[in-house]
Amino acid sequence: MGFLDVLFGKRVFCERCHTKTKAKEAVKKRGRFFCSDDCRNQWSEANPPPKATGGDPASYREKGLELLKLAQDYMGIVLKVSGGKTMSGTNIISINVAAADARDAYSLTQSNLMKYEREALESLSYLYALGLTENAEALESFDFQPIYEMSVMGAGPLQQKRVRKMVTPAFEWINKTIDALDGMAKATSTARSVCEKPAPEME
Ligand SMILES: [Zn+2]
Repeated sequence: MGFLDVLFGKRVFCERCHTKTKAKEAVKKRGRFFCSDDCRNQWSEANPPPKATGGDPASYREKGLELLKLAQDYMGIVLKVSGGKTMSGTNIISINVAAADARDAYSLTQSNLMKYEREALESLSYLYALGLTENAEALESFDFQPIYEMSVMGAGPLQQKRVRKMVTPAFEWINKTIDALDGMAKATSTARSVCEKPAPEME
């Protein structure tokens, strides 16, 4: 951070009109900053999100689920090590939180958040293709930069509380989106069982 940043808070440039604006006040979308909702909306219209093509809805759903379940696991770890509840998350990987000291928690947070972002962002094109626009937009609006900027020197309960506050809404959206994708699977299999002829009985 430069001298002016220290004095006035961190500044960023609006992606669309390049106006300098305070990072705290900027509107965020897909990891970019905007000076206003208006600029964000105009930019979104000109830059539609990537949408998966060339596949069928069933394959998009499967791929989306696969990526989001991984994202859920990674985010589950971030929440656990920062003392949060993982709610309905079905985490494959479990961690002995008591054994992890503040610095371990710090490095686990940083590395798993990065993995989370990779999986969650990759799932977006499938979510858009499936029409889960609200979910995709919510997931891409989260900005975890402040967590990456946290210092290891400040690792401890207060920092963990800030992490928890920032990642919990994203975790809830992940769970909600997984439920929506599961719901789609059920709707498809019900439709199929109604259409298909019953299997012949074995003698
Ligand atoms: Zn602007």
